[in-house]
Amino acid sequence: MVTTLAPCWYCSGLIRQFGFGGVVVGESRNFQGGFAWLRSLGVPMVDLDSADCATLLSEYIRKNPDVWNEDIGQD
Ligand SMILES: [Zn+2]
Repeated sequence: MVTTLAPCWYCSGLIRQFGFGGVVVGESRNFQGGFAWLRSLGVPMVDLDSADCATLLSEYIRKNPDVWNEDIGQD
C-alpha cells in the first residue's frame, strides 16, 4: 500500500488483517496513526518524509479541523 499519510487505526487493522506486504507513506510528521504498531508486527514500513506530503496534510488539517478530527476519532 502506498499513501500520502500514515494509516489511521482502522486502515492499520485492515493492513494487518489482510496481510499487506508493506506500506509506503509520504510522511508521518502530522499524524503517526498505526505506523509504529504495524512496524512492531513485522510489516515492512517506509516513511518517505516528503515535505510536499507534509504540507499537503498540514494545510488540509488547518482548513478542515472538524473533518480531520472526526476522521481520526478525536472529539
Ligand atoms: Zn484510514
